[in-house]
Amino acid sequence: MSFLQLRGVEKIFGDHKVIKGVNLDIEKNEFIVFVGPSGCGKSTLLRMIAGLESIDGGSLHVDGRDITHLPSSQRELAMVFQSYALYPHMTVYDNMSFALKLAKVPADEIRRKVEDAADKLNLTPYLKRTPKELSGGQRQRVAIGRAIVRAPKIFLFDEPLSNLDAALRGQTRVEISKLHRALGVTTIYVTHDQVEAMTLADRVVVLRDGMVEQVGAPLELYDKPANQFVAQFIGMPS
Ligand code: ADP
Ligand code: MG
Repeated sequence: MSFLQLRGVEKIFGDHKVIKGVNLDIEKNEFIVFVGPSGCGKSTLLRMIAGLESIDGGSLHVDGRDITHLPSSQRELAMVFQSYALYPHMTVYDNMSFALKLAKVPADEIRRKVEDAADKLNLTPYLKRTPKELSGGQRQRVAIGRAIVRAPKIFLFDEPLSNLDAALRGQTRVEISKLHRALGVTTIYVTHDQVEAMTLADRVVVLRDGMVEQVGAPLELYDKPANQFVAQFIGMPS
């Protein structure tokens, strides 16, 4: 069984089925990107994996364990949102250590984990600042740092760069990629940006109207798009 397995996953809002039987197999340490036009169901599918939306049909397994109906807090995964959602009155250090304190992790262990994450993210000089004293890119790195310290099995990103300007997007994209290589944590990354998808992904999942159109490595999608939709979306004529 693959590390993360989705079988026939469905989501219904009212009388509108927005996720229509998704099957996916994701291996450990893979960097997977969900890409597709606005409204195709990328965020909904990610939120279902995170346990932030219920699953109306099908099943979800992580590491051989059925987590279809497991509460989000027990899923050992971390989600980084498009809005940073940092605590504005707390320092960077306190933002990054908050979840560990709640989990009653010993103080010296918290310090070690936060300092290690800050080092990986080039945040060491900013640990005593508050979010308003940081740039957008730095804030986004704090949001990532807050996720890292919990040592999640899976990282989930929903359009994490969309609030940044073009220069910072490029820079933060490179950092996310480096971080993935350094940590080797299975990652699912949502974007509507083809360039982001093609540069970050080990494999890209192209979604359309709640269904998977194609799954493949970036070059495979270029060379062998499954259909006209994928070819056009990836930006190459078939
Ligand atoms: P994407 O992230 O790809 O832009 P979403 O997953 O946000 O797409 O949305 C997929 C579809 O589900 C859209 O038609 C959207 O309007 C609908 N949708 C998302 N969340 C809700 C909700 N809480 N209630 C009703 N409809 C929703
Ligand atoms: Mg979305």
